Amino acid sequence: MHNFKENVILANYTTIKLGGTAKYFCECKTEKELVDCLKLADEKQLKTHILGGGSNTVFSDSGFDGLVIKTGMKGIELHNDFKDNVIIKVSAGEEWDDFVKYCVENKYSGVECLSGIPGSAGASPIQNIGAYGQEVKDTIIFVKALDRKTCKSVMFANEDCLFGYRTSRFKNIDKEKYIVTEVLFKLKKDGNPEIKYPELEKKLNEKYKSDLSLSIVRNVVIELRKKKAMVVDESEPDSVSCGSFFVNLVLSETEFQNFYEQIENGKWPAVAGANNAKTENSEKHSIPFYKTSDGVKLSAAWLIENAGFKKGYTKNGAGISAKHSLALVNRGGTTADLLKLAKEIQEKVFEKFRVKLIREPEVI
Ligand SMILES: Cc1cc2nc3c(=O)[nH]c(=O)nc-3n(C[C@H](O)[C@H](O)[C@H](O)COP(=O)(O)OP(=O)(O)OC[C@H]3O[C@@H](n4cnc5c(N)ncnc54)[C@H](O)[C@@H]3O)c2cc1C
Repeated sequence: MHNFKENVILANYTTIKLGGTAKYFCECKTEKELVDCLKLADEKQLKTHILGGGSNTVFSDSGFDGLVIKTGMKGIELHNDFKDNVIIKVSAGEEWDDFVKYCVENKYSGVECLSGIPGSAGASPIQNIGAYGQEVKDTIIFVKALDRKTCKSVMFANEDCLFGYRTSRFKNIDKEKYIVTEVLFKLKKDGNPEIKYPELEKKLNEKYKSDLSLSIVRNVVIELRKKKAMVVDESEPDSVSCGSFFVNLVLSETEFQNFYEQIENGKWPAVAGANNAKTENSEKHSIPFYKTSDGVKLSAAWLIENAGFKKGYTKNGAGISAKHSLALVNRGGTTADLLKLAKEIQEKVFEKFRVKLIREPEVI
């Protein structure tokens, strides 16, 4: 089969640059190639793994004893052009940020705050990517996917995707059941940027009083992300990561109240000055939290820092980014080093705050 390779080093296909070899590897440029690959794997009884841009994946040091299928299907297409909106169809293998750039250039609003996120468009619904107050669940109208067993196409409307904070049915009840082949987004035409995130709003207000355009927002978001090494950049050692290694905690009101009281009552050691992530909601307290429709979101970065880990902390070949405490970075080590560090952080946070940090990237 075209593009079929053996013994491929997986580290070269992930942003964190870790992982052994895949026994077989195939990049599929069309849906037909994808189906052929799945059929071949079925015939040969090979386990399969779907890979996009590898920016949320950590392969084990021993690699993958099966077939890694990389999505390479390309295309950004204006599907419908209505008076106020457009529907854009994006193939799974498109770079997410190329799609955002296309939208900004065409003045289609709805994804501009998601500028600079690495990875493929096909992976965007998997964990409902989000940043600076936007999430793809707000603009996705349909996800087209291939059933990995039957090789039949299925369409999921937005409400069927069961989107939540950094999750969807594809990461949850239907994990590994489907391959996303296309995503359809509904965006506003000539839309104005909608700024909801305090840090971004502050930065925009400082520099641009009025006349905010989508491209200004895109540039400022990328600028903010670069400062945190959250844009993949060869010359930035702190970007050799998967982005955030842990998701923020989402607690119910009661859980949060209990958590908060424990700290206020001094059950847990006094909280050192919190970081600069304070929000309106947390102004008078030292714990940064946000009330959202999903529950009370508690900063995982704050928990890590207040469990005693400093930015830049390094052990063996893995470390915490010097620019963002949520990002774990490969500093020339192995997946084992990285997972050991992650475990150490989880244990310390649990020991101190009795809450469990949940890992964001997929470990294969
Ligand atoms: C520097 C950096 C910054 C980041 N910032 C953010 C951020 O701000 N917000 C955010 O949400 N994420 C962020 N991330 C995480 C990551 O970019 C996103 O999760 C992205 O969507 C992953 O895309 P990918 O194509 O690289 O996925 P991969 O790592 O290739 O795959 C991730 C998971 O999705 C599955 N998958 C991939 N493609 C498909 C498909 N077509 N069909 C079915 N399953 C599929 C894989 O099997 C795997 O389980 C960041 C990562 C890095 C490295």
